[in-house]
Amino acid sequence: MRVILLGPPGGGKGTQGELIEKKYGFPKISTGDLLRREVQEKTPLGEMARAKMNQGELVSDDIVIEMIKHRIFQPDYKRGYVLDGFPRNVSQAQRLEKIEKERPEIVIDIHLSEQALIQRLSARRVCSGCGTVFNLIARNPKKEGTCDVCGSELIKREDDAPEVMKERLKVYHEQTEALIDYYSRKKVYFRVDGEGKVETIAKNIYSILDREIARSREMEAAR
Ligand code: AMP
Repeated sequence: MRVILLGPPGGGKGTQGELIEKKYGFPKISTGDLLRREVQEKTPLGEMARAKMNQGELVSDDIVIEMIKHRIFQPDYKRGYVLDGFPRNVSQAQRLEKIEKERPEIVIDIHLSEQALIQRLSARRVCSGCGTVFNLIARNPKKEGTCDVCGSELIKREDDAPEVMKERLKVYHEQTEALIDYYSRKKVYFRVDGEGKVETIAKNIYSILDREIARSREMEAAR
């Protein structure tokens, strides 16, 4: 099963992706995390991606496709995987389907109002050590400014600055939102309300996944 988490930046895809990984054992692939690692390590790819990321724009399709390709054929990903932040436009979605045709696909759109989103993004903090994501509204650290997991300092992501945030939301509306229609036509699109508690959103996602995983097993058995 390929689970695609769709939704605007800061809408909770990362958090829900981690929970899905834990519950179903599908490893999470976050193109944003992979790119940030490249930037941090100052690799040639990271240097290419940095400017775009800091401006809130998308990096080239070729770069992200290559990163995905590297992973999904490894043994750990055989049962399934969760994509967080990929695809970001219709061209990426089409290229993904060409790379890997077999696996059944399910798309979960974590939906939030624009106002809730801006509030969430302003409250997001990430650990400078291990990358764990916190939120001063929804997922507060036990000790202010300090990561619960590794004790490092919590910082604001550079691209959560208000001007960059605005550009990221614009890119989302102009390029990523078109995927709603794209996946609806393929009848693999499901929307959940992303404004409640993390656990409530997770429960709603699990019930969709449980049902769809069972359905796809039945279809496979009938073949
Ligand atoms: P994220 O952590 O998913 O919000 O991604 C942070 C930034 O990484 C985005 O604003 C883009 O600049 C870049 N990025 C992440 N995923 C993709 C993708 N699938 N295609 C292009 N750029 C991406």
